[in-house]
Amino acid sequence: MNTVTKNQEVNKAYGEVNEYINKVLGLIEKSQVSAEEAQWITKETVDGFREHVNPGFLEYRKTVTVDTQFAAVEWSDEGSCFTDVNGKKYIDCLGGFGIYNVGHRHPKVVKAVQDQLQRQALHSQDLLDPLRAMLAKILADITPGDLKYSFFTNSGTESVEAALKLAKMYSDRTTFISTTRSFHGKSLGSLSGTAKGMFRKPFLPLIPGFRHVPFGDIDMMRKTFETCALVGEDVAAVLLEPIQGEGGIILPPENYLKEVRALCDEYDAILIFDEVQTGMGRTGEMFASELYDVVPDILCLAKAFGGGVMPAGAVVAKEKVFSSFFDNPFMHTTTFGGNPLACAAAIATINVLIEEQLPNRAKELGEYFLAGLKKAAEKHGDKVLEIRGQGLMIGIEFHQDEIGYALSKGMFDEGILVAGTLVNSKTIRIEPPLTISAEEVDQVISTFEKVLNELNHQ
Ligand SMILES: *Cc1c(COP(=O)(O)O)cnc(C)c1O
Repeated sequence: MNTVTKNQEVNKAYGEVNEYINKVLGLIEKSQVSAEEAQWITKETVDGFREHVNPGFLEYRKTVTVDTQFAAVEWSDEGSCFTDVNGKKYIDCLGGFGIYNVGHRHPKVVKAVQDQLQRQALHSQDLLDPLRAMLAKILADITPGDLKYSFFTNSGTESVEAALKLAKMYSDRTTFISTTRSFHGKSLGSLSGTAKGMFRKPFLPLIPGFRHVPFGDIDMMRKTFETCALVGEDVAAVLLEPIQGEGGIILPPENYLKEVRALCDEYDAILIFDEVQTGMGRTGEMFASELYDVVPDILCLAKAFGGGVMPAGAVVAKEKVFSSFFDNPFMHTTTFGGNPLACAAAIATINVLIEEQLPNRAKELGEYFLAGLKKAAEKHGDKVLEIRGQGLMIGIEFHQDEIGYALSKGMFDEGILVAGTLVNSKTIRIEPPLTISAEEVDQVISTFEKVLNELNHQ
C-alpha cells in the first residue's frame, strides 16, 4: 500500500470523529451560543457523561438540584458569577472548592497568561525557566517566617505528595500523624493522610506509617508522639489543615496549632500545613498560618494559587528541610509543575491579592456575611445546627444531610451555587470569590432566608 492510499484510509476512518471535533472547536470559539446550539450542547453533555465520563455524576446532580436543573451545563464565567448555556446566571458561593479567590477570570491573571502564551507556553525542561525563579522569590517574601524554597506542582494532592516525600527525605523517618476529618487529596500518598473511611477503604493498605488523631485534641496528639517515640517509630511529620475545609469548615481550638508546633519541635518532627484551601487570602490573612501565628516547616498550596485560570500548586519549605533535595534535584520532579503559564498566573494572582487587599476584604466581608447568615437562621434552630467560619470560608451545618441537600437545591434554583463538603455532607460551604460585592452577599443571605422559610412549608 502506498502512503497516499494509506492516508486516505486513515482519513476515512477518522472522518466522522473529525467532523464532530470541528463542530466542537467551532463552539469553543463562541462566547455565546444560540438556543439551538445550547440544546445540542446540553444533550451531548448529558449523553457524554452517561456514556463516557461517569453516569454517577448525573445521579448526584439529581439529588442536589430541582427538576431538570440537574442538566445545567456551564459555559462562561466572570467576576463572582458563572453562566450556563441557556444564559442563566449563578452567583458562585462554592468558588470551585475555593479556587476563585481573585474572582472568575480576573483580567490581570488572564492578561499575564495570554502574554506568556504569545511567547512560550511550556518550558524546555532543560534550560533555566525565569518565571519559576521569580515566583519562588515572591513566595519566600510573602510566606511567613523563614519559608524559602519552592517546588511547584499542578494540584493540591501533588503538593501534599511532595511535602510527604520531602519530610521522609529530610528526617529519614516514616511515621506521619494526620487528623480525623482531614482532607489532603486522593492520590495514594495524600489519601493516606485524608481521613474519610469511605474514600480510603477500597485502596488499603495505603502508605504505611500514618496515624490519625482527632483534630483539635492536643492530648491525643501528645500521647501519640510519646507512644511513637517509645516504640521506636519516630514521627517524621504532622500533616494538618490549619482550618479543615472538606471536614466541614472546622476551626482549630484556641492555641491548638501553637501547641502542635511545640510538640513537633520537642520531638524534632516537621510541621506540614496543608493550606491548599485556606491559602491565598481566603481566611482573612494571606495564609492561615499568619492568622494563628504559627510557622510550619512546609506549606502546601494549590487551588486558588493559579488564580482560577491555571492549575497550579506549590510547596514552600524552610531551607534546612528543602536542602535534602539540593544534592539531587531530580529526587522529585514533575514535567508540567511550575510551567510558565502557571507561574504567570500565580504571579498575577499574588499581585491582585495584594493590590486589591483581598485578604483584608475576606476578613471584613466574611464577618458581615457570617453575621447575616446567623441572623437569617435565627428562627431555624430545628434545621440549622451551627454556622461558623473565618474570613470567606464559611460552613453551615444542618441537623441532617437531607436538609443540606434540600437547601442546596433551593439555592441553586434561585441562581446561587453552594455545595456540601467532601468529608462531612451535613455541612455546606460558602466560599465565594473574595471579590464578591456586598450586594451579592446580601442577595445570598436573603435567598438563604427565603429558602429556609420555604423548607418549613414542605
Ligand atoms: C482540595 C484539597 C486538596 C486536594 O487538591 P486537589 O487539587 O484536588 O488535588 C488537598 N488539601 C486540601 C486542604 C484541599 O482542600
